[in-house]
Formats: sequence, C-alpha cells, structure tokens
Amino acid sequence: MARIFVAIIVTVFMASTVFAGGIEALTLVDVQGETDTNLLVNAPDSLKEEYYPSGRMPSQILAFLVRFGGNEVLFDAGLRDEAVLTRLAEQGVSPESIKAVLITHLHPDHFGGLVNYEGRASFPNAEVFLSKPEYDYWVNKVKNASVISALRLYKVRQFAFGDEVIPGVRAIDTSGHTPGHVSYLIESDGEKFIVAGDIMHFPEIQLPHPEVSVKYDADPVKAEQSRKFLLDYAAWKNIPVAGMHIPPPGVISVTKSGEGYVRH
Ligand SMILES: [Zn+2]
Repeated sequence: MARIFVAIIVTVFMASTVFAGGIEALTLVDVQGETDTNLLVNAPDSLKEEYYPSGRMPSQILAFLVRFGGNEVLFDAGLRDEAVLTRLAEQGVSPESIKAVLITHLHPDHFGGLVNYEGRASFPNAEVFLSKPEYDYWVNKVKNASVISALRLYKVRQFAFGDEVIPGVRAIDTSGHTPGHVSYLIESDGEKFIVAGDIMHFPEIQLPHPEVSVKYDADPVKAEQSRKFLLDYAAWKNIPVAGMHIPPPGVISVTKSGEGYVRH
C-alpha cells in the first residue's frame, strides 16, 4: 500500500510537495480563486446549495512536476501567465532543465504556459507529449490558432490511448472533458501515482456525486464515465490521484462510498 507523506511549504503563493513511495510530486499553483455554481451541470439547485450555500465554489489551476526513477516530468503548463515558471524557479528548477511536458488536454489553463510572455517556448529543451485524438481535434479539426502557435514552438510527440508515453508512464483514456483527454499512470519501484487532469473540477461535490459535470466538459456523459472509471480504479488499487483543479496540494486518495467516493 502506498504511503503518502504530505509536506506543505507555504510561500506567498503556496507551493507543496507530495511523496508517494519513490515518486515525488511537486504541486505548482498557478491561480486560486472562486467561481459560480452555475458552472455545474446535472446538479439540482438543492444539491448545489447543500455543498456551496454561498453559491461560490473554490477554484484553482495547478500543474505538477513529478520525479520518479531518475526522471523529472512536467504535467501540464498552466495558463500563459508564467506562474508555473515562477513556481519552478521558487523550487530551484530552471525551465531549460525540463525535457518532457506531458499534456492532459489542450485547454488554455493546461497548455497556455508552454509559451512565455515573449512568445517563445517556456521550456526550450522540452518535447511536448499529447494524445493523437487531442491533437487531431484542436489542430486538424477546429484549427485552434493559439494551440497551433504554441505547439509550433516544440517537438510534439503524439501517442495513442493506452500507450507507454515515456518509460514508466502510461496514457489512460479519460476522454469526455475533451475528445483526447488523458490521465497518466506513473509506475516506479512498484509504486503508482495518477495525474488525472480534468476528470473533475470541484471535488467537494463531484466525489460524493460523480454524476455532476461542468460546462467545460465537451461530452458530459463520457466525462462522467471517465471520472467513474478512473476513480474506481484509483480506489481499487489505492493509488493517489493528482488533479489540476483539486485544491492544493491537489493530490487525493479515495475510497468508494455508495454511488460516489470519499477521501481518506
Ligand atoms: Zn482545466
């Protein structure tokens, strides 16, 4: 069973470190704030009021730097606000040292930080990894200009769902939020860790009620299926899950409870 040690380093912006066995995850806080409950989908008003009586929900954007088996991998890059670069600098990590950025999906709060204020690659020595369905959707189908210009700065490596993306990291199909959304299963020395991207946005309500989706989910039904699939797996194997919109430090462990999940 993975034992998890959480050490919170409070700075002006708050950064934190989580260790799961030999796997070390550094939480990079981009933005923290709050948002309105009208973002929730498939949530009756009574349920919203139960969990968020003020009508406002805590909201945050995170990225993670994960070290395992001699690797150091950045998972997502946050917004184009250089906050992830600042968080890395606070931890003594230079942008040039980042060799691999694994992207969960191509929304601006996940890929935006690939580009710095000067319009250049934030991580000049990095290769960027993303799923082929995600690339096809944003680049070939909708031809999103900011995605195309960001990816043009990098050597981009596409992979299929289920592939071993880099040694020790496998891509799990958790599409629904976007057509090619993936979660990453990291394995090192028998320990496991999942970087789950946006399988959920508001864990306070979505863990007990995984049927609740958000307006950002392109396919809410599929997003719900992916959320349940991933959380069922994490609960069954007792694997810690990192999420880009889970309150810092952004890593939780869950147990099944009725139709939903509880943290433990
Ligand atoms: Zn997001």
